[in-house]
Amino acid sequence: MNADTNLTTPYFMIDEKKLIENLEKAKTLKALSGVKLVLALKCFSTWGVFDIIKPYLDGTTSSGPFEVKLGHETFGGETHAYSVGYSEQDVRDVADIADKMIFNSQSQLKAYRHLVEGKASVGLRLNPGVSYAGQDLADPARAFSRLGVQFDHIEASVFESIDGVMFHMNCENKDVDAFVLLLEAISERFGDYLNQLDWVSLGGGVFFTWPGYDIEKLATALKAFSERHNVQLYLEPGEAIITKTTDLVVTVVDIVENEKQTAIVDSATEAHRLDTLIYNEPASIAEASEQGQYPYVIGSCSCLAGDQFCEATFDEPLKIGQRLHILDSAGYTMVKLNWFNGLRMPSIFCRRENGDIQKLNEFDYNDFKRSLSQWSVN
Ligand SMILES: *Cc1c(COP(=O)(O)O)cnc(C)c1O
Repeated sequence: MNADTNLTTPYFMIDEKKLIENLEKAKTLKALSGVKLVLALKCFSTWGVFDIIKPYLDGTTSSGPFEVKLGHETFGGETHAYSVGYSEQDVRDVADIADKMIFNSQSQLKAYRHLVEGKASVGLRLNPGVSYAGQDLADPARAFSRLGVQFDHIEASVFESIDGVMFHMNCENKDVDAFVLLLEAISERFGDYLNQLDWVSLGGGVFFTWPGYDIEKLATALKAFSERHNVQLYLEPGEAIITKTTDLVVTVVDIVENEKQTAIVDSATEAHRLDTLIYNEPASIAEASEQGQYPYVIGSCSCLAGDQFCEATFDEPLKIGQRLHILDSAGYTMVKLNWFNGLRMPSIFCRRENGDIQKLNEFDYNDFKRSLSQWSVN
């Protein structure tokens, strides 16, 4: 199959060619810097395309026990596990399959280190107290942050009982100079501690696949850091790997007017593209044109009053039955799909490099029903 006009909307279309363009940049970064890259599954875990990604990256990083298991089973390589809060059962389940286990606090480390020793390399998340993030909600260094150990709270002896540390302090950071400054701040503040370790992970959020990003500058800074502290460096990219690879394809089912024209489509941000809503970041539509004379709200078919994808202008009036491609819909979307309003769940396809379209997932009424109850009271 290589025509997508017959596919029933809504659906996600992952483009292999675009994915490989991002992965080639990842390969360059690795080659120039010596850094290892593990895919953050919380951003993207559509394992049906992992065979495309595997040759380029070193493994995965996960939080919940199911993510860890999925990474281990479907991706392989190095499996990193970090959670803001592990239960004892989580630790027991994860320790057997993880290569690295990273605790969020010194109390969790003390409580569970003995369960991990001899099985996985042990790490601790530190909070550098500095960050690069557009919104407070996504800022790991926000006031009263619960993410990682603050510098002032570190017990120096802790470094005798761990192999590495993780810092995560970036969100969609497209500015290499800003990242290098963070790196220098960490080196200065935590350097004496880092010198005692085997590995340091610098987390995710470094947008090295953004057009024009100076990968060489990033690589030089990472290489210098790893040599200065004699550690293996890791990055944990999510968004950077799958950015701009995937459209959410929808159909206009109605057009209504109330001072503005709203085109209602057969999808909803609340159910299928949740971060549009959470971060109040409008989506982009492939068919829109900045100079267009016909403005529309692209509205969701959910019941939530403010649920819309964006406002956009078009060269021609939109028509009922017409398809729209909502761009850049891979990250933090498929991992957050939900059944709100009993909407049809988007199916998931991959357009291979040779043009073939392969189905990775489809959902039906039974998936919806089972997600709500499997047994009724009697
Ligand atoms: C969210 C997260 C990532 C991935 O972030 P991206 O912005 O998608 O690159 C990596 N590491 C940790 C600890 C995270 O919380």
